[in-house]
Amino acid sequence: MLQAPFSDSNISFYSQPLTNFRSVGPRTHILLQKLFKKTTQVTVFDLLKHMPTAVIDRRYMPKICEAKAQTIATLKVTIISHIPPKRRGLPYRVICQDETDTLQLVFFQGHKSYIQQNLPAHEQRIISGKIDIFQGKKQITHPDYICKLSEQDSIPKIEPVYPLTSGLHHKLVMRLFSYILPSMTEIEEWIDQELLTKKQWPSFKRALQAIHKPYDVNPDISLKKSRERLAFDECLANQLALQLVRKFHRHKQKAPLHFIGQKKNNFISKLPFQLTLSQEKVLCEIEGDLKAPFQMTRLLQGDVGSGKTVVAFASALDAIEAGCQVVLVAPIDLLARQHFEKAKTFFSEVQDDVRIICLTGREKGKKRDSLYQEIETGEANLIIGTHAVFQEKVNYKNLGYVIIDEQHRFGVEQRIQLMQKGRTPNLLVMTATPIPRTLQMTQYGDMDTSYLQQKPAGRQKISTHLIDIQQIENIVDRLKKLFEKKTKVYWVCPLIEESDKMIKTAAEERFRYLQHHFKNRVGLVHGKMKASEKDAVMDCFTGQDNENSIDILVSTTVIEVGMDVKEATVMVIEHAEQFGLAQLHQLRGRVGRGDQASYCLLVYKQPLSQVAKKRLQIMKASEDGFFIAEEDLKLRGGGDLLGTQQSGFLDLAFFDFDEHQRLIPLAKKHAQMTIEKDPHFSGSHAQTLKKLLALFEKKQAIKYLGSG
Ligand code: ADP
Ligand code: MG
Repeated sequence: MLQAPFSDSNISFYSQPLTNFRSVGPRTHILLQKLFKKTTQVTVFDLLKHMPTAVIDRRYMPKICEAKAQTIATLKVTIISHIPPKRRGLPYRVICQDETDTLQLVFFQGHKSYIQQNLPAHEQRIISGKIDIFQGKKQITHPDYICKLSEQDSIPKIEPVYPLTSGLHHKLVMRLFSYILPSMTEIEEWIDQELLTKKQWPSFKRALQAIHKPYDVNPDISLKKSRERLAFDECLANQLALQLVRKFHRHKQKAPLHFIGQKKNNFISKLPFQLTLSQEKVLCEIEGDLKAPFQMTRLLQGDVGSGKTVVAFASALDAIEAGCQVVLVAPIDLLARQHFEKAKTFFSEVQDDVRIICLTGREKGKKRDSLYQEIETGEANLIIGTHAVFQEKVNYKNLGYVIIDEQHRFGVEQRIQLMQKGRTPNLLVMTATPIPRTLQMTQYGDMDTSYLQQKPAGRQKISTHLIDIQQIENIVDRLKKLFEKKTKVYWVCPLIEESDKMIKTAAEERFRYLQHHFKNRVGLVHGKMKASEKDAVMDCFTGQDNENSIDILVSTTVIEVGMDVKEATVMVIEHAEQFGLAQLHQLRGRVGRGDQASYCLLVYKQPLSQVAKKRLQIMKASEDGFFIAEEDLKLRGGGDLLGTQQSGFLDLAFFDFDEHQRLIPLAKKHAQMTIEKDPHFSGSHAQTLKKLLALFEKKQAIKYLGSG
């Protein structure tokens, strides 16, 4: 008996690796990974998710005499003669004509034999490219297409243009699409027929084809509708994933923790300050969650300086009192170490049975093994560190509570990895990068949320000034005045990713300049320094090392997150125009932590783009992280909201915030209805939706569906 064809409802075509195609070897694969910001294998669907940023229209087919300069034209010509270069550095020219005029084709890197083969004299060819006028004559430099009349159809009439990465050629991407687009399979529809008709949306396959091959697909299918459909798919996948995860999480039982809060209360009573009402409220919420028979998954949002660390420590003590191990993870080792030092001082007087250790990438060899040992035996009950704390070799005896600081620096997968180190451990993730409401629903719908609305009392406003770099001497004068009182200054130079050398020189040069004015009061840290060197400098700045105290810390953005030095009152940010709003806000939040008046000097270099100007003005006008995040969203159109470090977190391929915002509630409703109708997610519609989840790689949701 013949088996029914399998392909029509199958996503395997889309999820196959691109290396299945002969044009993609290992080197190209690495470039594609870079382009798609992926660490795993790139798939056909990754390519299909890569949206063109523009289209080239090649339908303009003038005679040579009519062809307008600076337009893309496709012309039918006869080759007349070849003029090879007379000396090196000159181009190879080919003279063509039609019945109206002549046209030169110009080639700089002369692939002589290629040119001669493809443009034989006296024959006719179709040429497509941009028309230039040089010394009064029309020419095309490096035509995009050259082909015989019989192959004219091989020139796309409307050609999408894709963002690329260096080393990856447009031609290769086009070639891949030319393999993929015609062989795409139709997948069983997951959107209701009714909605499809109402919205006039094409099928999944047709929508993708329309976007990548705009002209060849049925002209009735509008690009806008296609894009909208795919945006809805993406949004629906997100909503489903979140709601499923939330549903399964919610019902995830755990053993309640038993404690009376003695350690915590003791700790709080010895603090040199009173907790804010917000801090107390959040501590209550966490306490309730820890004691409940369900796993806690809570997002703690609080603007920079709102005092999240104390909340983390206090709640950790509850879990420790209940006999659990607690892990606190930070994205960088400077921050982990700062938390470690703080915890030690905070706890030293009051808690003798809290054993705190610090585990980061820098602990090696014997030291590391003994830390592993302490974790495994349960001797250590508060483990503070970086990614190192969830490496494979680390085994916990009884991990009951996971706290992630500055969680926007971690990916969802890392979160899962860490959670697997315990049996349904409680989770608190803390973020100072405020998340606008709309996005919160799409990204963190699986979590409960707490807010630290108040800042600790007595904080002064940070006054923010915009200064042209040409006036750097004024800044130096100002600092000299400020130094009449005791103060500390951060001086940030931007990170230039392209080359390590430049990072150093920008910061090093500034370091030397400031040293000239302030002698040995200046220190330097940058990302390329050894951990121990960084520590030594930081100690001089934080006051741990009193003898070699420094007052100005020049750094690349390594200090961006979390650093907390009370005496620091001035933040100078050079090339502020290169930073995103969220980052500027984070950096500025490093000052204004005590009761001294604080300053943030945003130093820019002319000329400023419109967006950069707007950004700096917003920073000057507001200190409210939530307001700034909303403005950021507007400026960036929602695509890359939280900056590049966030990619992978918020990487939406089809969904454009401005265009498709209103699809969110619709997708949310559909996801909700589906789950209500089929709570076990086992019906045939659910099977189709699982394919949608698989396509958009919602691994977390799939994992839950697989196991339950
Ligand atoms: P963030 O929320 O940015 O992580 P931190 O936890 O680093 O903020 O706290 C900022 C500073 O405020 C720290 O020096 C901390 O000790 C201090 N702090 C925290 N809570 C209070 C409070 N209730 N009153 C006064 N100072 C506080
Ligand atoms: Mg913090």
